[in-house]
Amino acid sequence: MTADVDQWGHGRVTEALREHLSDLRDSITSGGSPDLGAQGIREAVATKLTVRSASTLKPVFNLTGIVLHSNLGRAHLPESAIAAVTAVATRASNLEFDLDSGKRGDRESHVEAMLCELTGAEAATAVNNNAAAVLLALNTLAMDRKVLVSRGELVEIGGSFRVPEIMTRAGCLLKEVGATNRTHAKDYEAAIDGETALLMKVHTSNYRIEGFTARPGEKELARIAGHHGLPFMIDLGSGNLIDFGALGLPEEPTVADAISNGADLVTFSGDKLLGGPQAGLVAGRADLIAQLKANPLKRALRLDKMTLAALAETLKLYSHPEKLRETLPTLRLITRDAHDIRAVAKAVQPAFEAVLGGDYSVGIEAAHSQIGSGSLPVETLPSSAITLAPLSGDDRELRQLSSAFRQLPRPVIGRIHDGALWLDLRCLEDEDATQLVAQLRELEL
Ligand SMILES: *Cc1c(COP(=O)(O)O)cnc(C)c1O
Repeated sequence: MTADVDQWGHGRVTEALREHLSDLRDSITSGGSPDLGAQGIREAVATKLTVRSASTLKPVFNLTGIVLHSNLGRAHLPESAIAAVTAVATRASNLEFDLDSGKRGDRESHVEAMLCELTGAEAATAVNNNAAAVLLALNTLAMDRKVLVSRGELVEIGGSFRVPEIMTRAGCLLKEVGATNRTHAKDYEAAIDGETALLMKVHTSNYRIEGFTARPGEKELARIAGHHGLPFMIDLGSGNLIDFGALGLPEEPTVADAISNGADLVTFSGDKLLGGPQAGLVAGRADLIAQLKANPLKRALRLDKMTLAALAETLKLYSHPEKLRETLPTLRLITRDAHDIRAVAKAVQPAFEAVLGGDYSVGIEAAHSQIGSGSLPVETLPSSAITLAPLSGDDRELRQLSSAFRQLPRPVIGRIHDGALWLDLRCLEDEDATQLVAQLRELEL
């Protein structure tokens, strides 16, 4: 037991031992004959301690087909970002220290210039996430005043971010303009009065209104706002910084487009298409950014050194765009070749067949992955999936299979569709494939 005490600490070992002895007593009283040998007790206690100390937050296999899955941690950080996090987390750093002057520095100096360069904005700031960025911007520029938003853009993201609610919490009055499907420039014009503080456009990230629709362009809204001396802000959601079309992907607006179309402020996430850590970024006019930075809320929403380090390294990768598909995991996964995914499916299928073949039909099917996190909600990316369908056709068996995959040491998250468990392999890269196959025999069905 000394080794256990050394590993787990006296208190925890005593507690686990007491619990186990109590279980043994209960078992004996109810007529059982448990193992009372010292070795058996020792092992039982060690197991209890191991189970208890296991992390609840752990890596999983995201085989949902949704690359940027909000519940599964969104973007995977680039290697260089992880190295930078480790470096600043384990040592002192010049987080807020200007090495030239020897005086206090600004923590955002590590990312601001790069953000400006990549977006064409005059200035930029960074906070905890995009929800915080929107909150900060609204609170700074429009407290106790009106913000105009189209009725077609009152977005809810994942249930916890709703434009009208953020607006209330930021202390602003939401002034809805236009109709759900059609909003015109004149609707904005007509709604502007002495209490209006801001015109806001929200990228309808996770849905699309189709059919008889109209919405003024960004340039037009910028012109109207400018004419009335009001700022125009765009909540872009996903922070796309590159030309998706050039990569053969469906077009997705960039932050630079929004700025060049005349937005005074643009807010976006760090861990969506940008491919970095959770962060909320605001790029735009220098005078407005200065106001945001001076808001006391900014201090409550600011980024920590580890996130700043990861963000700085991620942004740096964009200065070598030719290599971005290799260096930025999010882009690598989104642009992954369908044949490549198919090859992985073929390579792992026999292992699934060996473990599950008796009771399940193990197939390879064409699948449709999504980028996720509100980017291009309608377009899909061609992919391949391993499909596992119970030969019995029993739904309960299918749910049990799905649950057994979730109980693996590194849980496997797929999705149930059409009587089968679908494991979309877009996000299963080589090393991971080996690990996935190796743990299949631990499936407890
Ligand atoms: C995702 C998203 C948000 C929320 O961003 P977080 O970084 O998750 O806080 C806000 N607005 C839009 C339009 C989004 O797509």
